Amino acid sequence: MTHEVRGFGGVYECRNPVDRTIKPFPLYDIAVIGAGGAGQMALLRAVLNHLKTIVFLGDPKTSRRSRQTWVSEVENIPGMFDLRNPITASTRGVLQFIEKRSDLKPFLAAVKKAAVAIKKEGNVFTISASDETVQARFVVLCTGTMDVQPEINGSIEPIFPFANRGDVLYCIRCDGHRTAGKNCAVIGHTSTAGWIAVMLKERYDLPKLWVLANGKKFEGSSEVKTLLGRYQIQILRGKIEAVLGDRTKGLEGFQVAGEKIPVERGFVALGSIVYNELAKQLGAALDDRDHLVTNEYGETSVSGFYAAGDLVSGKKKQVYTAWDLAVDAVDDIDEKIRISKRKS
Ligand SMILES: Cc1cc2nc3c(=O)[nH]c(=O)nc-3n(C[C@H](O)[C@H](O)[C@H](O)COP(=O)(O)OP(=O)(O)OC[C@H]3O[C@@H](n4cnc5c(N)ncnc54)[C@H](O)[C@@H]3O)c2cc1C
Repeated sequence: MTHEVRGFGGVYECRNPVDRTIKPFPLYDIAVIGAGGAGQMALLRAVLNHLKTIVFLGDPKTSRRSRQTWVSEVENIPGMFDLRNPITASTRGVLQFIEKRSDLKPFLAAVKKAAVAIKKEGNVFTISASDETVQARFVVLCTGTMDVQPEINGSIEPIFPFANRGDVLYCIRCDGHRTAGKNCAVIGHTSTAGWIAVMLKERYDLPKLWVLANGKKFEGSSEVKTLLGRYQIQILRGKIEAVLGDRTKGLEGFQVAGEKIPVERGFVALGSIVYNELAKQLGAALDDRDHLVTNEYGETSVSGFYAAGDLVSGKKKQVYTAWDLAVDAVDDIDEKIRISKRKS
C-alpha cells in the first residue's frame, strides 16, 4: 500500500511506514515544517533556488494555536496594510504563485498535515505526519510560538473576545501605537511587563496605566520599579476576577480584588509557549526560555537541522525577522548542497 504526498509538481510516492516492502521514501533537499511567517519565505526561497522542497503545512489544530492565524491585520510592514489575515494570505499567495509557474512547480510538494515525528540517521532526516513519511537532507523548522494567556478564574477564555477585537494586545512593536490616548493595563509580573508599561507611557503618554500581576509577586528589576514609580504606574498584585465589557462595546476594564480598573486597552506580557517538540526529539539545544539556539545561519546544534521564525532564541518576534531568518537558513543549506555537488 502506498501513500501519496500531493505535490504541485506531481504526486510523489511515499512508503507506508508499516509496509516495508514498498519503494524507498522520496528524498527531498529540504523539508520545511510549518508555513506561517517563516515557512512561507523558507519554501519560496528554496523553490526559487531550485531545491527539491517538501512543506508540511500543518493541520487545523496547529493552525488554531498559531500566531499566524491570530494576526488579523498588520500596520508595521509596508505593503501589508490592506490584507486581512496577512500572514495566512501571504502563504496562500506564495503557494498560488508557485502553482501557476511551470518553471517552479516541479520543485514543491506539500503535505496538508502536521509533522509529528522526526529522526536523523546518517545525514538524512525522516519526518512523519500521521500516515505519511518523507526523507530530506536538510530541515527548516518553522513551527512558531504562542503567547501565554492570563488565567482569570481558572480559565483563559475570558480574554479572547477582547483579544479578537484588538482591545487586548500582545506585541508592542506591532500594536503598541493602538494604545495611544487610552487607559491601559499591562498583565504580567516580570520586568518585561514593567518595561512595556514604561515604554507605552514614554512613547504615547497614556493618561493612566496599571501593571496587573494577577496574583503573583511583581519580580521586576529595581530600575523598572523606579520608572514605574516616576510615571505613577501602579502595580496591583490582586487576582483579576473578571474582564469587563462586551463584544459590541469593547473592553471597559478589569475587576481586581473587587475594584474596577477602568481601561480600554489591555496588554498581555506573560511569555511564550514554544512549539519545539520536533527539535526536542532530535535533542537540539534550547535556551532557558525553550527557544532554539542556532548559529548565525539558523543551524541548530543538530547538523542540517535549521530553525527560523519566532522559535529562534534571541530574535525579534516579527514577520520580517521570520522572513530574514528563513532566507539565511535556506541560502546556507543551498550553499552546502552546491558544495557537495561540486565535489561529487
Ligand atoms: C496578536 C499578534 C499580532 C501580531 N502582529 C504583528 C505585526 O503587526 N507585525 C509583525 O511583524 N508581527 C506581528 N506578530 C508576530 C507574528 O505573528 C510572528 O512574528 C510570525 O507569525 C512568526 O512566524 P513563525 O513562522 O515563527 O510562526 P507562525 O506564523 O505562527 O507559523 C507557524 C506555522 O507552523 C505551523 N505548525 C505548527 N506546528 C506544526 C507541525 N508540527 N507541523 C506542521 N506545521 C506546524 C502552524 O500551523 C503555523 O502555520 C503578531 C503576533 C500576534 C500574536
